[in-house]
Amino acid sequence: MEAEGVPTPGGARYWTQVFVRSAILDEVYCPYAYEEIETLVTVEVSAQLDPDQRYGIFWHNTKRNTYKQVSETSFNGKTYRKKRRVTPKPREEWIAVPVPDSGIPREWVDAAREVIKDNHRSPSTSRRFWELSGGLLRCGHCDANMRNYTTLGSRAPDVWYFYYRCARRAEKGDEACLHKKMYPAAGVEHRVWEFVSGLLTDPGQLRADLDAMIEEERQGMHDEPEQEAKPWLSKLAQVESKRSRFQDMAAEGYITFDELGAKLSELEETRTFAVERLEAIRNRQERIEEMEKDRDALLESYASMVPEALEELAPDERHQVYRMLRLRADVRIGGALEVSGMFGEEEAFCRSKVRSWTP
Ligand SMILES: [Zn+2]
Repeated sequence: MEAEGVPTPGGARYWTQVFVRSAILDEVYCPYAYEEIETLVTVEVSAQLDPDQRYGIFWHNTKRNTYKQVSETSFNGKTYRKKRRVTPKPREEWIAVPVPDSGIPREWVDAAREVIKDNHRSPSTSRRFWELSGGLLRCGHCDANMRNYTTLGSRAPDVWYFYYRCARRAEKGDEACLHKKMYPAAGVEHRVWEFVSGLLTDPGQLRADLDAMIEEERQGMHDEPEQEAKPWLSKLAQVESKRSRFQDMAAEGYITFDELGAKLSELEETRTFAVERLEAIRNRQERIEEMEKDRDALLESYASMVPEALEELAPDERHQVYRMLRLRADVRIGGALEVSGMFGEEEAFCRSKVRSWTP
């Protein structure tokens, strides 16, 4: 399909191994003889089938969905949502639905199944924790995420290799991004950790850096949040009093109801704008508070560790540290790595802490 340029249903250029595997095992594509199908369905169903035809099987009623109410704490307080759990049903409950022959020869299906019979997921693949996943590592050429990639070695059959590579190129093909190289995961992770553990072993400097970053974010606010919110709050109060004044005028017949409608929608616009501004001020305030919390956690829990203990940190703990640092690492074509601590999404906050290496 890749050779013929057939895109995935989602429009991606490359098909995943997981899909190929499930297609090979999917009974829908496997042509069964009438005699085989007959044993799986009721007499009424088999009576409608053509004994000279082959059929695939769509298995119905294979899974059970159960829903559970769960509560979550977020910015807006407690929210509730339904959580779905899928459990397989016992084989006896499955219902075979004959579907038209896919046209794929049975020998092909059998041969393909034979080939993947002994394949198993590498235990280390599922267990490996990708420290730089979740958008921490980016393609320095096209700004996409670097996604992880696992492959079996060609020489030794049981050796797996782990890489990061540009997600856009992996998905959309060679033309989508020129960043061809796949980077051995351990190497990139080591370099990033080397940099970050360097930061952590100098708590004095780290505190100064973090304070500077938080200050930078605070500078983005012209005043203290309460000060900044004030004009918008009084704007809101104004809107309210104007609204009732206009309504009185309309009631007294000084303005028509059409005029009232126009005035009110004008006021509504002003009100929406003021509410948005207040929201932004509050978000920024929350962001700063989170940064302060992370700063304290970093300084208390990690920066006070002895270097040996730092080296012992598990990959998921390192990932946690990166998150707290708002870390972002860009790999440029050629392998230079730029690491920055970033706050929010505004470009203005990217400037601090850029260091690079060339491997
Ligand atoms: Zn790229």
